[in-house]
Amino acid sequence: IRDYKVTGVQTCALPICPPHSRTRLPAVQMDRFFMENRQPLAPPMPKACGTPELPRHLNELLGEGMRLRQQAYRGRFAPSPSGPLHRGNLRTALVGWLEARLHGGVWLLRIDDLDTPRNRPGAEAALLADLRWLGLHWDGPPIRQSGRRGLYASVLSCLRRRGALYPCRCSRRLLADISAPHGPLAVYPGSCRHRTPHWGAQQGRLPSWRLRLPAGTLHWQEHCAAPGCLDAERQVGDPVLRRADGVIAYHLATAVDELALGISDVVRGEDLWAATGPQVAVMAALGMPAPHYAHVPLWRDASGHRLSKREGAEGVAGFRARGCDAASVVGELAASLGLVEGGSRLSADELLQSLQPTDLERALR
Ligand code: GLU
Repeated sequence: IRDYKVTGVQTCALPICPPHSRTRLPAVQMDRFFMENRQPLAPPMPKACGTPELPRHLNELLGEGMRLRQQAYRGRFAPSPSGPLHRGNLRTALVGWLEARLHGGVWLLRIDDLDTPRNRPGAEAALLADLRWLGLHWDGPPIRQSGRRGLYASVLSCLRRRGALYPCRCSRRLLADISAPHGPLAVYPGSCRHRTPHWGAQQGRLPSWRLRLPAGTLHWQEHCAAPGCLDAERQVGDPVLRRADGVIAYHLATAVDELALGISDVVRGEDLWAATGPQVAVMAALGMPAPHYAHVPLWRDASGHRLSKREGAEGVAGFRARGCDAASVVGELAASLGLVEGGSRLSADELLQSLQPTDLERALR
């Protein structure tokens, strides 16, 4: 049983805040960092199990998720069906699968299909076929977020009743205007924080709903890197949990699913590192500790640009058209992480048999 340290919103900053740079700390040192810097949370986080604040069915669901994640390693791969998986996505899937299997754990496949306008017909079937072709078999049936909207709506309404959310009508345009012209993505300045919960409905148009983040530091544990640490106010900003078009936002659905599915370890692309802040904040608002994270480096093309599904970066169909078989693709993905020699040909299972968990950790550092 792993010792899950409480991560989430803290009202006081950590005395030593590790750099956000990708400085990697060995696992033992990371654990020490967390042990030494763990501070009492003030105000204490609400207990998920048995608090009257969450309806009983949500308490039970989250309690069951917590039980599952304490029992075994539980990972997931969560592609959006917005296009074919490219080699960067495939490498992340391979790493997640290897991690789960090396720990004797469970590897779930979750289809992040809530953002329907971005879904592409046939993309889900293609990605399932691609994973099978590579030998990356998942446990149980694929879990579609589109089938879990009721759960997200319950969590949303519970947070709203508790006063943790506020309606927001700021347009993208307005937000773009307040951000620096060429600066990084704007942090929401909290312009609608004072709105009452009924404000949106009175306007006759749906508002978006944002989570009011307590001031302080959001932090989480990274499996092969320095712990994640972001200032809620300056670096994260109140995240939208339900968009004005009624779509449940990625951060809410993801956070709820990690908890409800009992995910102990999230392995995903490095581009989602900053998304961990808002997701950990949602979990803290539900009184739950965050899982551990591993953010896998993105695969960049020769000119240093990250690959993109929507721009049609080459995937399994392309490899096959060039006459590559699964063994050569697994070899190429593994060689890109230094796990095998360049030009190796081996199945995912053979790769698994040849590795120790520490090999993978070394490759990701
Ligand atoms: N659905 C996201 C994607 O395809 C990944 C989400 C996650 O792993 O948290 O990029």
